[in-house]
Amino acid sequence: MSTTSFDSPIDIRSANAQHMYHPMIDPKAVQAAPPLIIDRGEGVHVYDIDGKRYLDTVASLWNVNVGHNRPEVINAIKAQLDKLAYYSTFQNTSNPPAIELSARLMRMFAPEKMNKVFFSSGGSDAVETALKLARQYWKLNGQPDRHQFISLKWGYHGVHFGGASINGNPMFRSAYEPLLPGCHLAETPYTYRNPWNETDPAKLAQLCLDQLAQLIEQVGPHNIAALVAEPVQGAGGVIVPHDSYWPGLRQLLDQHGILLISDEIVTGFGRIGAMCGAGAWGVAPDIMAMAKGINSGYVPLGATLINERVASAWDQPGVPAALMHGYTYSGHALACAAANANLDIVASEDLPGNASRVGAYMQDKLQELMAYAHVGEVRGKGMMAAVELVTDKASKAMLLPPSAYIQTLVGTARSEGAIIRVQGNRLILSPPLVFTRENVDEALRVLHLAFSAAEKV
Ligand code: PMP
Repeated sequence: MSTTSFDSPIDIRSANAQHMYHPMIDPKAVQAAPPLIIDRGEGVHVYDIDGKRYLDTVASLWNVNVGHNRPEVINAIKAQLDKLAYYSTFQNTSNPPAIELSARLMRMFAPEKMNKVFFSSGGSDAVETALKLARQYWKLNGQPDRHQFISLKWGYHGVHFGGASINGNPMFRSAYEPLLPGCHLAETPYTYRNPWNETDPAKLAQLCLDQLAQLIEQVGPHNIAALVAEPVQGAGGVIVPHDSYWPGLRQLLDQHGILLISDEIVTGFGRIGAMCGAGAWGVAPDIMAMAKGINSGYVPLGATLINERVASAWDQPGVPAALMHGYTYSGHALACAAANANLDIVASEDLPGNASRVGAYMQDKLQELMAYAHVGEVRGKGMMAAVELVTDKASKAMLLPPSAYIQTLVGTARSEGAIIRVQGNRLILSPPLVFTRENVDEALRVLHLAFSAAEKV
C-alpha cells in the first residue's frame, strides 16, 4: 500500500492491471493473472513485494549482468547525482561521465577498431541510430541509392519503426505494418529448423551464405546500405551460428562494400564469453549497437559505435555532414556514470571469462533437460541458452502458449524460487554474468522440478 498526494490509498496489485500496459503481452492476460511484482534485488536474486526470494535466471531481460544492487554502481550513481543528474550533449555541450565512457569504449573495442560512439537511451535507439548512420554514411560518400537493409530471419532489433522493419519474426511486425520499404530477410543458420532440413552446422552456414549472396545479387549491391545481425540471435531463440558463419558473412559483405552492423545489445560486454559477440567469431563489424550490459540496466542507456571507415565519412573536408539525429538523453550523466562503474566490474571480475567458464558448465548441465518428452533441443553459448519446447520430438511441432504445460513450467519454477522466461516455444536462460556453478546447480534443481511437474499435466 502506498498513498498519492490526494491521500487515497493505492492497492498496487489491482492498480497494475487497471492502469498499466506491459510490453509484449495482451493486457487482458495481465488482468487475468496479475504479474509478479519485484520489489528488491541482491546479486543474482530478487524479492517480490511479499518478501519471497527468486533466483533470477534471466538477469531481468538479459541485462543485469553484474547482478542486482551492486554497491559500486549505486555509489557511482549517487556521487554523480550529488553533482549533476543530467546535462544535454546536444551540439556543443557535454558532461564528464559521458566523455569518460566514450574513451573507455574505444579502448575496450580497440581490437574491433571502433572509432566513435553515439549515445542513446536503450537498444531500440541504438539500432535506429545504426540504421540512420549507415544511410548517412552512403549519402556522404555520394552513393544515396544505398539505402536498403538486409537482416536475418528470427532476428530481433528492437521496436522502433526501423528496428521493427528489419525484425525477422512476423509476430513483432504484423500489428504495425506497413513498415519501412526496402528491407529484406535472409535465412538464418538455425540448425534445428531450416528450409533445407540441414542438420550439419557448417554446411548450413554455407547454404545461408550462398542464399545471402543470391539475395544481394537480386537486390543489387549498389542499393544496399548494410546488413544487420546478432552474433547469437537472442529473442529469436538463442540461435548459435557455426564458427564459420560470421567470418564468411564479413567476407561476403566486403566483396560488395556493404556495411556490417552487429546488434550487440544482448551479446555485448561478455555474455558469450568475449567482450563483444562479433569478436567471439574473430570479426570486426563496421557498426555495433549496444545497450543492456553496458550498465547492467541501472539507468537506461544505449550506444552505437562506428569504426574508422564509417567515421571517415564525417571527416571529409568541405562536406557538410551534420548529424541531424540525437536524443534528449544522449549521454545522460547518471546512465554514463553507472556504465563507467559497471564496466570496471566487467573488467576487474573478468565477466566474459566467467561467462565462458560457468557458461560451459551451464550448457553442459542443461543438456540433462533433453530427457523430458517435450524438449526438442537445448542449445546456447556462454551465458545464454534456449530449451526448445515441442509437442513431440519427432515432428518438432512448436509447443506454444497458451498451454497448461508452459503455465505449469513457469508456475512451478516460481513457487520453487526461480524466475524463468518462456518466449514462444523457447525457454530462455540468460543469467547475470556473475552466476556461479552453485547458482547453475540451483537453477537446474528448480528446472527439473518444473519440467517433472509440467510433464504430468
Ligand atoms: N536488439 C536486440 C538484439 C535485443 O535483444 C533488444 C532487446 N531485447 C533490442 C535490440 C532492443 O533493446 P531495447 O529493448 O533496450 O530497446
